[in-house]
Amino acid sequence: MSGADDRRWAWAEVDLAAVTHNVELMRSIVAPSEVRAVVKADGYGHGSVEVAKAALAGGAAGLCVALVYEGVVLRRAGIDAPILLLSAQPDDQLDDVIEHRLTPTVYTRVQAEALAATCGAHGVVDLPVHVNVDTGMQRVGVAPVAALELFEHLDHPATPLRAEGVFTHLAVADEPTHPGTAEQLARFDAVLAELDRHGLRPPLVHAANSAGAVAHPGARHAFVRTGISVYGISPGAGVDHLVAGFRPAMSVKARVSHVKRVAADSHVSYGWRHRFDHDTTVATVPIGYADGVPRRLGTLPDKPGADVLIGGRRHPIVGVVTMDQFMVDVGDADVAVEDEVVLIGSQGGETILATDWADRLGTIGYEVVCAITERVPRRYT
Ligand SMILES: *Cc1c(COP(=O)(O)O)cnc(C)c1O
Repeated sequence: MSGADDRRWAWAEVDLAAVTHNVELMRSIVAPSEVRAVVKADGYGHGSVEVAKAALAGGAAGLCVALVYEGVVLRRAGIDAPILLLSAQPDDQLDDVIEHRLTPTVYTRVQAEALAATCGAHGVVDLPVHVNVDTGMQRVGVAPVAALELFEHLDHPATPLRAEGVFTHLAVADEPTHPGTAEQLARFDAVLAELDRHGLRPPLVHAANSAGAVAHPGARHAFVRTGISVYGISPGAGVDHLVAGFRPAMSVKARVSHVKRVAADSHVSYGWRHRFDHDTTVATVPIGYADGVPRRLGTLPDKPGADVLIGGRRHPIVGVVTMDQFMVDVGDADVAVEDEVVLIGSQGGETILATDWADRLGTIGYEVVCAITERVPRRYT
């Protein structure tokens, strides 16, 4: 992580053994399908290179990223596994795609032609590509009715492109009773059947994200593209019961930087949004919204502030989180400067999950861990 000072009194611990365990567990769930670990967004904030190595150690058959530079970072770290780019990327980055042996995704003829031209410039005669078919996400991908035509184009002997894979992406897999997943998979199966009829079905078919992998066996195909479960975070409350065996990889921790007694009727932090109705002890924690701790975590309407763990006990955040620090009401607990504070993770038998923050904030665990900024040093255990 560039720029982060490891001596800082705030850090994120990443348990790489948990990553390896989570990939092994996912492999056992989806076998004989394989697992490709999604390490986009710097490994969902955990550190892409370290996570990628731990995932490969757990038997991941490959990696997936969103951006070209994310793939380049992995190659520069010496990682040789297949790396799939999940969406098409700007033409001026296609040289890097070829040079670093990234596997591109295409869904338009224009994209295929740009890639073929880049292959020509590099003397590449065989480039595996994957085609994303949009069966309902309405984000990227070729429409099911246009898929055959694109595969026929890719099958042309003159093109250096070779359709190695075909995939789709599920929009509601984390709601197992939602009929949308069956609809999407039916559309996808129809495309596969059409490709079969023309002898054009590529060898690598894939459809499942983490929720799809655990909740929808029919989505597993050749491999599952799992991100959030690799990090031990539930994709959504509807599949909590299916991911109980996955272990959270990231903890967010800090040390108390200041402690003081405050009197009843005094207020705390910007806007004086919290008033103490009793004399109490307040601890200051040196991590804030510039580090990814949301400003509103302690001041949501009608809710007490989110808890942190100090001395193995829960204590609420009081007042708004500031850019670099926030305050905690520790009551009459014996808390001292340098005591460890757990924001996300476990201490003394208590646990706070990324999804606990997410539930409070009206978001998902993904956003919580991706938001932890580079300023927070990552420590690998
Ligand atoms: C991010 C992403 C995934 C991973 O999803 P998780 O829910 O984190 O498992 C898989 N496929 C595509 C296309 C994605 O964009």
